[in-house]
This record gives sequence, structure tokens and C-alpha cells, in this order.
Amino acid sequence: MPHIHELSEALTNQIAAGEVIERPASLIKELTENSIDAGATQIDIRVVDAGLTLMEVMDNGSGIDREDVPVAFKRHATSKIATVRDLFAIHSLGFRGEALASIASVADVTLATATVAGVGTEAHLVGGKLVDQHSQAFRQGTSIKVADLFFNTPARLKYVRSQATELSHIVDIVSRLALGHPEIAFTLRNGDKVAFKTTGNGDLQQTIAGVYGVNIARSMLAIAATDSDFSISGYVSLPDTTRSSRNNITLLINGRYFKNYNLVKGIIAGYGSKLMVGRFPVAVIAIELDPKLVDVNVHPTKQEVRISKERELADLLKTSIYARLSNQNLIPDALHNL
Ligand code: ADP
Ligand code: MG
Repeated sequence: MPHIHELSEALTNQIAAGEVIERPASLIKELTENSIDAGATQIDIRVVDAGLTLMEVMDNGSGIDREDVPVAFKRHATSKIATVRDLFAIHSLGFRGEALASIASVADVTLATATVAGVGTEAHLVGGKLVDQHSQAFRQGTSIKVADLFFNTPARLKYVRSQATELSHIVDIVSRLALGHPEIAFTLRNGDKVAFKTTGNGDLQQTIAGVYGVNIARSMLAIAATDSDFSISGYVSLPDTTRSSRNNITLLINGRYFKNYNLVKGIIAGYGSKLMVGRFPVAVIAIELDPKLVDVNVHPTKQEVRISKERELADLLKTSIYARLSNQNLIPDALHNL
């Protein structure tokens, strides 16, 4: 009697889901990144009960062809890379082809999509199985609705925290994606309540106003600096506009949101002794550098990044913020067009 057998596709998808889809926010991140990759200029995200009842991501991107719909939900099915060479020149946020398969394996998913307005496809998947697909008129773009998250993985459901916690994770990730894409109009709703909304007009300060509110955006200082390796630009709050966590410091590295402890430390160090103990600034800083200097940890859910010459970059952040805050005239840069 043989003891070793191959796992079924349903089971391997559920195992993969365990890594990719930790909580409602990870699912929202995957769907929203797909919308960004699809070239959307407008992304509307709606969750009900912090995603525990329903999550929906709607975009006006490229849409999915009818015959591609069943394939999109297969594991390792992607339109974003085809060859090993592509793997080393990735410009999209996704490329593993795991997200939709993982999501569908642990939830009830309804997809509506059209590559051309008027002729579209609607599909319904439950626990990874395509139970229905039919033609359906739809505007151009894609909408994915997810209900009953983790209905068939009770152990995972146990790890989901209170709605307040799950919602804060959702707001956190969507804010970072919005700040990284001022050219895309984002709306995030919890139930009927708008959590935030950005205009998509390409202006970073106005995007900050959408995410954090006009008053904060208006009171921020613009910073910009370059050295031989790095170019930084963005906005930092005055020392009296602070938050109790460092989570409101956003680093965009070549346009993409990443976490990096040392760089955040450099930003905070730029405030010298101006911050009260336990208080942290609000900052959004875009860093441009040669991609060769970036070592992205390619684990699907990790958002950390390592950079060569990290200390030099942290110093550049520190000194330029310090110089800007020491300037006698701490007049915030006016927010135009609001
Ligand atoms: P990946 O993003 O790694 O390619 P996914 O499982 O997230 O894998 O998606 C599979 C494929 O489905 C994508 O490569 C893309 O072709 C298609 N797709 C998913 N979401 C969208 C969307 N919102 N708009 C257009 N195409 C999409
Ligand atoms: Mg994806």
C-alpha cells in the first residue's frame, strides 16, 4: 500500500491561502493590487462589518476576457509574467498567480467583468469551485465580491480579531496603496460610511488630504533632497502634529509602499528632540533609487525591503528633515486647489 499521494488542487489552494490570506485586509490588498495592475484609474472598495460579512473591490481597469475567467482562478495562473526573464524585470504588483485561487478557495466569490463595456461575464465560485458562469452586460472593468470569508477554514476564522482591529488593518493597507498612487481615485467605505476618498488628480499633497484630512495635509512641510544614489521627496508633519504610532509614516520606494525600520528611524531622528516621548510624525516620503540597490524580500505577504547603503539613505532623510524643521520659517506649504 503506497503511503504517499499528491494533494488535491482544492487542498493545495487552501494551504496557499493560509499564507496569502491571513485576514480581511490581506484579501483587500491582493484585490486592490490586481486593480492597480489592470490599469484602473478608479478603485472603489466597500466592506461590510470590516470585511467579515462582505468585501467588494470595483475597478475600471482592463477587465478579464470571458475565456480567461476560469483560468484566472487557477493556482499559478497569471497574465503578468511568462518567462524566467520576466521574473527579473517585474513591473506589476502581482505575478505569482496565487491570490484569486487562494481567495476563492476560502470564500464565496462573485466576479463581474468586461474588457469592453456592454459585453461581460459574471461568475460565481464557492470554496474554489466555479459553480456558474454566464454572459452579463457590465461596464468596462472588474468587480469582485467576497462573502463568507474562511467559511471552510474555521481555524483561520478564530484568528480574526474584532471588527475595529480588522477595519484598522484595511484602512492602513488601502491608505498606503492610495498614497503610492495619487493618479488613482480611491474610495474606501465601511458599510455606507466613507472611510476616505482620494481625487486621483496626481497630486501627493491632495492625496494626503484625502487620506488624513485637509487639516493635516495643510500643516505639512514639503521636503526634497538628492545625493548621488538617492532622491527623496514628500511631506512631513510639524512636530506638534503627531500620532501615537509610527504607522503613519509611509515610505514609497520607486512608487511602491514598503516597510523599513531603519529608514523610519532616520525620519524620526530628523525631528531631533522636537517630538514628545511616544509621539510620532505623519510623513509620506517617496524615495527614488536604482532598482539594483533594492533587495525586495519576495515572500508574497512581506512588505519589508532591504536597501544597500541603507545607512546613507537614513542619514539623508534625517538631515533633510532636520534642516527643514530648523528653518526659522516653519510655514507649511499651502495646499493648493482645495
Ligand atoms: P497575479 O496578480 O499574481 O497575476 P492573481 O491570482 O491575483 O495573480 O490574478 C490572476 C490573474 O487574473 C491576473 O494575472 C490578471 O490577469 C487577472 N486579474 C485579476 N484581477 C483583475 C482585475 N481586477 N482586472 C483585470 N484582470 C485581473
Ligand atoms: Mg494578484
